Amino acid sequence: MDVLIVGGGIIGLLLAKELLQKSVSVTVLDRQAIGKEASWAGGGIVSPLYPWNYQPCITALASWAQEAYPDLAEELAAETGIDPEFNQCGLLMLDPPDRGKITNWAERNDKRYEVIDGAETHALEPALGSSEWHGVWWPDIGNVRNPRLLKSLEIYLQRHSECKLIPECQVTRFEQSPGGRVAVVANEQRYQADKVVVCAGAWSNQVLNQLGIELPIEPVRGQMLVFEPSPGLINGIILHQGRYLIPRLDGRIVVGSTLEYTGYDKSTTTKARQELLASACQLVPALDSIPVEAHWAGLRPGSPHGIPFIGEVPGFPNLYLNAGHFRNGLVLAPASARLMRNILLGEAPIVDPVPYGLDVARQSLDYY
Ligand SMILES: Cc1cc2nc3c(=O)[nH]c(=O)nc-3n(C[C@H](O)[C@H](O)[C@H](O)COP(=O)(O)OP(=O)(O)OC[C@H]3O[C@@H](n4cnc5c(N)ncnc54)[C@H](O)[C@@H]3O)c2cc1C
Repeated sequence: MDVLIVGGGIIGLLLAKELLQKSVSVTVLDRQAIGKEASWAGGGIVSPLYPWNYQPCITALASWAQEAYPDLAEELAAETGIDPEFNQCGLLMLDPPDRGKITNWAERNDKRYEVIDGAETHALEPALGSSEWHGVWWPDIGNVRNPRLLKSLEIYLQRHSECKLIPECQVTRFEQSPGGRVAVVANEQRYQADKVVVCAGAWSNQVLNQLGIELPIEPVRGQMLVFEPSPGLINGIILHQGRYLIPRLDGRIVVGSTLEYTGYDKSTTTKARQELLASACQLVPALDSIPVEAHWAGLRPGSPHGIPFIGEVPGFPNLYLNAGHFRNGLVLAPASARLMRNILLGEAPIVDPVPYGLDVARQSLDYY
């Protein structure tokens, strides 16, 4: 079997790796350089921010992927020499609302956590600006350095004889046979395969519009800052009122993020920079004297309830979709790619695939 993947973000690249492990030949097309969109721009927290706000089908994928991440990172580092720097640093949630919900969710899903008072949060993170914040400490949550994860995956796939990675190759239309099977056209060239999987993130709706398919996936901009290295300033991820600080292993601290419905506009704004800086310095006042190294924006593939579409596209016998991971594509990716492989190859699925189906009516358009 051969499979054509449209989109070389974390979802497309990990799906390619999954398929190669089962001796399936893979071609990945991306309209630009590989791995330079949302998957590059994200923070790399290996957990949804407030996981109890999501439906159980998100927890199912996230839990599977959290187990898989340490081995995945180790394998890629060993095979490619680029370490994705998976760092199980823990996550400290300050003043979280809904204490009852947290406890219920954690107990039900067997997650380790600890409710701690202001003195204890300060002991965990001495650089915090206040000892008034109580907290919930999640020792098992980590972060991955996503640009490195993408680079290592790219090298891994480039070295594989059964994989073709084709950058600068934008899919502009489909060709359909009378039975509904599709081939794609990119750069005036026709690409066909036994199966075609669209993994085009926030652009998936645009891609499938060519076939008259309308999906509730839309771009949602997020802006981020990174501070120059300041090793040891914080020990783990710190989350407060939706804003977070992520420590990288070299001492850089990544700050996120905004949630903006501004279409496909990826520009950065002074307002967001100021807001992110204010949040960061309120949490950790010492950041006030550390220069910001970079400021960027990315486009999340927003979807109702943040539930990705993983499955076949009804009416098109060889067309599949794996997109719409919204705020959680990095954490969900290993599980999402494995489930897509299960569906493509007729394997027993790692989780029940029904909630991610394109034929499942999404009851409301609430966004998280
Ligand atoms: C600021 C920010 C912070 C985030 N933080 C986190 C986090 O901490 N943890 C977490 O789990 N998730 C986080 N996310 C979400 C996560 O980054 C996304 O859900 C995930 O990267 C989506 O992956 P993807 O492969 O579907 O999309 P993308 O990475 O966007 O990849 C899609 C690819 O498709 C290509 N493409 C598009 N159209 C075409 C076409 N016509 N032809 C060929 N190729 C095409 C694009 O060029 C792109 O490379 C964050 C996102 C942002 C923006």
